[in-house]
Amino acid sequence: MSQSAAGKPTPKSEQEAVSGKALDRQLLARILSYVWPYKRLMLVALVVLPLAAAFELVQPYLLKKAIDEHIAVGRLQGLDRIGAAYLVMLIGQYALLFGQTYLMQYVGQRAMADLRMKVYGHVFRLSQSFFESTPIGRLMTRLTSDIESLNEMFASGLVSLVGDFIKLSFILITIFLIDVKLALVSLASAPVLFGVAWLFRRVVREAFRDIRNRLAKLNTYLQEHLSGIRIVQAFAQEPLAAARFDQLNQDYRRANARSIGADAALYAIVEAVGSFAIAGLLWHGGARIMSDTLTFGVLVAFIEYLQKFFAPIRDLSTKYTVLQQAMAAGERIFELLDTTDFDAPTDAPLMAVTADPQAPLVEFRNISFAYRPGQPVLTNINLKVARGETVAIVGPSGSGKSTLIKLLSRFYEPSAGEILLEGVSLPCHPVDSLRRRVVLIGQEPYLFSGTLAEAVGLAEASATDLGRALGQAGASGLVSRDPLGLQGPVQPRGANFSAGERQLLALARAFCRNPEVLVLDEATANVDPETERLIDAGTFTLMQGRTSIVIAHRLSTIVNASRIVVIDRGCIVEQGTRDELLARDGLFARLYRLQTTGISSAPLVAAPPLFT
Ligand code: ADP
Repeated sequence: MSQSAAGKPTPKSEQEAVSGKALDRQLLARILSYVWPYKRLMLVALVVLPLAAAFELVQPYLLKKAIDEHIAVGRLQGLDRIGAAYLVMLIGQYALLFGQTYLMQYVGQRAMADLRMKVYGHVFRLSQSFFESTPIGRLMTRLTSDIESLNEMFASGLVSLVGDFIKLSFILITIFLIDVKLALVSLASAPVLFGVAWLFRRVVREAFRDIRNRLAKLNTYLQEHLSGIRIVQAFAQEPLAAARFDQLNQDYRRANARSIGADAALYAIVEAVGSFAIAGLLWHGGARIMSDTLTFGVLVAFIEYLQKFFAPIRDLSTKYTVLQQAMAAGERIFELLDTTDFDAPTDAPLMAVTADPQAPLVEFRNISFAYRPGQPVLTNINLKVARGETVAIVGPSGSGKSTLIKLLSRFYEPSAGEILLEGVSLPCHPVDSLRRRVVLIGQEPYLFSGTLAEAVGLAEASATDLGRALGQAGASGLVSRDPLGLQGPVQPRGANFSAGERQLLALARAFCRNPEVLVLDEATANVDPETERLIDAGTFTLMQGRTSIVIAHRLSTIVNASRIVVIDRGCIVEQGTRDELLARDGLFARLYRLQTTGISSAPLVAAPPLFT
């Protein structure tokens, strides 16, 4: 597992660690723990296995009886009974097979649905830093195809391996019981088979590891480029992207070729060895029939048994692949489940939050923070925000503004110092209550697909509240223009709304929540003047009577703020009202003058955002 001592995931390259083991006992035990609740059904399925094997292996014996006791001696009487018994065995074998397959699939599906739910619940508790270092495609794979691989193991791999083992044991016992000498001749080639199987395992294990790694690279590349398809197209990067993809694709193909080669070789060798074994059987058995020490029926039965003996070995590669895939999938799923990089870890004891009404509503006390050790992003930030105050945070790009508000939303934990809400340290607030009291509107609001009501109300606001919130945000027009009104569709990521409209809907979503503290990262994207005016008005209304901390890009926000805090290289360098700061003639005044005089004729909001 790629866990460091601190419990944080160590940064991973594109490569995913895959041990390549086909059967890791510890891992198997952990996988099987999910089947444990369905142990009774599983037991039934397993009990059926030896029964089905018995039904199958009685058939050659019946054949022997039919030949030796009836056909060879010309005695028809009783042959029909043997025929009927054969038919019963055949039907019994397949009926049991049906029941067993159904049961195993059923148990597998139930167990995997449980596991999927567990992984889902776990992923949603993980922190922002985890999501930043983990491609979403990888998480999707964990929840879908990896769990499917495990299921496949239940459906075929594991059970059929157990079934094969039982069958092979039964065959060995039966042939030795019938004729020891002939059994030894039949098995003369067995050491060769074991040698081949061992060699195959080694080659395929390596090849399989290579395949997984190549596939992981291919997936990561695809996911990243599909997410950034607009940039690829806008910068005409298609040929370059295609060339790189082609290379990854060829690498993947080559890795597969090795495993296919080993697979084909195994199949051919087992078939050849099987044929030799049968030839040896015919040669030895034929001689014995002529010397009357063996009956024809026994020889036929042996040929049948031998064929049944070789078939599972020939199909070993398929089962081996299923098992290996399942083990690799299990390893990755459990690695994810073992990641304890939780969102808002509750290291401080959760106690009854006893707010101090005298304290500032929000206080950053000696806050320092670094994403990576040795690279401080914020240094000793002290900031008190009183109830009802609007604080505008400004500063050059990369100065740490977004980081500051991410700390307030508890997406990250400060490296030093503490943030207090009503005098109580953030970790002492239950996370859900904190998320209700402090609402963040980011630069690019994300809208879930579904209806407008769902996207804005997040399935918790009443229709009245929803209508009011949309009205306050200035987004009523977006509802009334759709004939379906609040039931109008929202496409994935809100694609059927413009950037400005999405911001309006995000404002409405915040109105629905009615938070005590509004944290806003103002959008820098240009929108049409009409929407711009609506967003300005909506933002202004939302801030009224509310404590707001805004990373401000619009002049109107800066002008209306009760206080402006200027951040530079992770430190607060100035604070005060606009006029005070202008009089100080420091960094703010410089940035302000650049923006207001740099493009004198252009409206300020449309100017390149210097306060980013
Ligand atoms: P601002 O919002 O003022 O533009 P940020 O808070 O986004 O600045 O970034 C401050 C610094 O932290 C920058 O140097 C940036 O590169 C770095 N940074 C931001 N986010 C991350 C992250 N997730 N991982 C590592 N470094 C980051």
